[in-house]
Amino acid sequence: MTEVLVDRAPRVRCHECGSAAVFSVCHHCRRPMCEDHTPLVLSQDGVRVRKPSGGAEARAVSREFAGLHLGSSLREAVYHCEEHDHLVRGLRWRIVGAGAAAAVLGFLLLFASASVGLILLLLGILVAGGEIGYHRWEADKHPRPPLPLVPQVNAVDVVERLTGYVRLEKDEYTASVESITGTLKVDMSANDGYTALQAYHRKFKVPPNEPVEFTAGFLLLQGSAGLAFRAGQPQVLAGGAGISLGDGPAYEHDLFPTDPELQHRAHTVTVDYEVQDGRKPSEIPLWIVPSLVPSSDRRAMELDLHWAGLGPEGEQLELAGFDLIELRVPPGWGDVDGARPTGVETGRDGDRRLVRWQHLPTPSTKAGSLSLGLRFERPIREVPPTPGPDGAGPSGDERSRLTLSGTVEATFNGLLSGATGVAVHLPGGGQGVQPQVTTQTKVSVTFDVSIRSLRYQEVRVVPDENRPDDVAYGRNRADEFPGVVPDPRTVAELTNAISADNYYVKSVVEHLPFRDDGRPNVVNRVWDITGRLYSGVFPIDFDINLRGEESGSGGVLTGKTVAQVSVKGAYALGTLVGPDGAGPDGVVMEPDGGGDELLKRIEDTWIGLHDRVGRLLAGRAGRVDGAYAIGAAEDDALMGEVLEPADEPWRERGAPRPVDAVPPRIVDVQPDPTEVADRRRRAAEEAVVMGRISEETYRQIIAGIDAERDARGGPQ
Ligand SMILES: [Zn+2]
Ligand SMILES: [Zn+2]
Ligand SMILES: [Zn+2]
Repeated sequence: MTEVLVDRAPRVRCHECGSAAVFSVCHHCRRPMCEDHTPLVLSQDGVRVRKPSGGAEARAVSREFAGLHLGSSLREAVYHCEEHDHLVRGLRWRIVGAGAAAAVLGFLLLFASASVGLILLLLGILVAGGEIGYHRWEADKHPRPPLPLVPQVNAVDVVERLTGYVRLEKDEYTASVESITGTLKVDMSANDGYTALQAYHRKFKVPPNEPVEFTAGFLLLQGSAGLAFRAGQPQVLAGGAGISLGDGPAYEHDLFPTDPELQHRAHTVTVDYEVQDGRKPSEIPLWIVPSLVPSSDRRAMELDLHWAGLGPEGEQLELAGFDLIELRVPPGWGDVDGARPTGVETGRDGDRRLVRWQHLPTPSTKAGSLSLGLRFERPIREVPPTPGPDGAGPSGDERSRLTLSGTVEATFNGLLSGATGVAVHLPGGGQGVQPQVTTQTKVSVTFDVSIRSLRYQEVRVVPDENRPDDVAYGRNRADEFPGVVPDPRTVAELTNAISADNYYVKSVVEHLPFRDDGRPNVVNRVWDITGRLYSGVFPIDFDINLRGEESGSGGVLTGKTVAQVSVKGAYALGTLVGPDGAGPDGVVMEPDGGGDELLKRIEDTWIGLHDRVGRLLAGRAGRVDGAYAIGAAEDDALMGEVLEPADEPWRERGAPRPVDAVPPRIVDVQPDPTEVADRRRRAAEEAVVMGRISEETYRQIIAGIDAERDARGGPQ
């Protein structure tokens, strides 16, 4: 029986010492062995080795699999644990030859000396016959091994499926895990089943009609695999360390052709397993945040989906993408007038209207968020709960269908069970060719959302010319810093400083520098640093616009920088209560204390960021004292992308970002010039639309970008 030592999750280990680095498997009992406990099964240059090294040809020491057309010494090598250690030797031809030679010599000597000749003849026959007899006896002592067949393992797919349910009803958010199961699927093929079977019949002198057992090798699990194969699956190895790739009678198996002309055979092994309780997530970490779009006559809603990390702390799985999102809405809302992302399918599902997205953009960060928008023909209204799929009635039952219901399907890379992959072992127990292995977790969450939980939100932009506060505090005025050159050093220092303050810097764009006609020594520079700060799950976007000039004369560079900070975020005015009313857009709302808090945070974000930028630039003005030498190394020069840290900005809904969270890091990438030009073009367009630069400046920037493109010989 295979022994698998158990720690937090079982891991396939050497049966002797418990090492997790498995090197081979005993081909008789299938117990795993580490490299130290693997016998020396190959012979190379007369030296016994575990694996061949260098160019000299290696030979399997045991002849157990010899003559079966396996094709390589590694495939012929047979691995044994101590208990099953045995050596199958070939016929020692030197002994047989010596005996035969003695017999021939004895026969010739019969005519010279009858007695000497006779003794030599008998001795020779005895030696040669004895060796042949001993070899036969030894071969009979060990039953013949099953026929080894080495299939090509084309692909291994390990998929775990997690299903769950999320319910959002007014203030109550419940998320439960329903089931989690796994499937291991191995796709393989073989071309040599027929020849292998023929060779086996010859080697072991098996009569043509006698059934032959075969083995195609094994697959062992890697990683701390917190899983248990379901009972009643004959492919599973004793102890659950892995599976057999194929065994049993050869004549009725997929891998052996019935027609010798059709050699190519394919075979698929599928086994199911359960994930250990300890590896099951206790809840579905999917947050669904619906909100009504302001000033839409109650006809548009947004649905934000946030995955707050799936899997145990420290080993969270990466979201590969959303596969499907289905919404069921009351037919009274009318047709879908618009959707974001576009490309929705609509239809009917019973008494509900079905809206489905099948091809969704891949989320750019591990903290997978997706924002959906829908606009309906008629106002969004609550409808009474209806019986759920399990027939539960509308009398406040847990699973009754609420106004908005649906399904979210997403794929994560990696497995919840903790298994990291598989290792293929040959029929003889050695290592096979590592196949392509995919490990994925597919999550399917159904949900019910009550319209009473819709947030009714408003957007706050700071500064806002129409807000007396913003004007009174002068938030709408840009700050000027004489003596600070708006060059890459300044931008790098600023970016690093705000990153250290836990702002996610998403992009740093320098618009193409340009010169004024009248002032040949002056270069005008414009930068936009954009990014995001999370307040719980609610994003607050920011933009820092730096513009100014650098002028160089007499080897001294000086200039000035104008900085403007703007911040934008959505906050809830309240929660929708009544279906009709006299509030904005005709809704009745319960004022939401959380919304006021968020509004204050949006304003505080502006104050904090504005203060940080101001202090840094003022400090820089003092330090550089208005001038520094031209030609200084641009040690902090940056041109690249800013990566968000891999961990999620939130752990719990609404929880502030932990203070020790990893700040973003700036990576040096060689940007694609066309992409940079496009980015600059978009940024310039935005800047002119926002009134940050004049039409004239905009035209100069665009002309510069075009000139650069022409110089590169790019597309027109
Ligand atoms: Zn060992
Ligand atoms: Zn064994
Ligand atoms: Zn053996």
